[in-house]
Amino acid sequence: MSNEKNIAITIDGPAGAGKSTVAKKVADRLHFTYIDTGAMYRAVAWKALQEKGACDDEAAIAQIAQKLDITLEQSPNGLRVLADGQDISEEIRTPAVSHVVSAVAKIGAVRERLVSLQRLLAQKACVVMDGRDIATHVLPNAAVKIFLTASVDERARRRYAELKQKGFSGSMEELKAQIAARDKADSEREISPLVKASEAILLDTTHLNIEEAVEAVINEAKAHI
Ligand code: C5P
Repeated sequence: MSNEKNIAITIDGPAGAGKSTVAKKVADRLHFTYIDTGAMYRAVAWKALQEKGACDDEAAIAQIAQKLDITLEQSPNGLRVLADGQDISEEIRTPAVSHVVSAVAKIGAVRERLVSLQRLLAQKACVVMDGRDIATHVLPNAAVKIFLTASVDERARRRYAELKQKGFSGSMEELKAQIAARDKADSEREISPLVKASEAILLDTTHLNIEEAVEAVINEAKAHI
């Protein structure tokens, strides 16, 4: 849990709402450390695909999560994600990983391991941490809690533009269906589902650009810190 010295800002919300872009910019402006918890679940999913080719054996995935050394490294090119020392920042963003990550994230042992890692990181520095259960479970005493969302059409449009640049050849409809399926799995799972903490500020970015969303979070932070 965040201790008294270090301040935490939590940004939760569904896939593609712009959490990581906004969280990163807010962290830069405030000189806080940005922690992308989705990247940690993605790292476990990536490793499971590498080792097992699938994500259906929960006991095996729990073991992988237990053993995997996950490091988030701040770099001039953004956050780098290392798994056992290997930079997998690009690999974890592929549609193959996105497709299986929610199945990995619903495993209790995986969550326990990653949540303890996340709490440790928040003890060491002032953080902006984004994810699904940060305000409700990981850092319930955080100073500022934001729930960032946008319509599913807008989220699919943004994700499509981002993936298209990387050579993604699928359709917008396919992407929208995948995002909706991930939202459903994340919201309906038993352990720490995606839900807005009652005290979190709701920020709908459907009609906001990135700078406007960043400004809104910074204003909220200034009011509370
Ligand atoms: O944030 P991102 O879309 O990269 O997260 C990938 C997946 O990781 C989510 O769809 C969700 O299943 C899982 N996740 C989670 N709890 C978090 C962060 C991510 O369950 N705090």
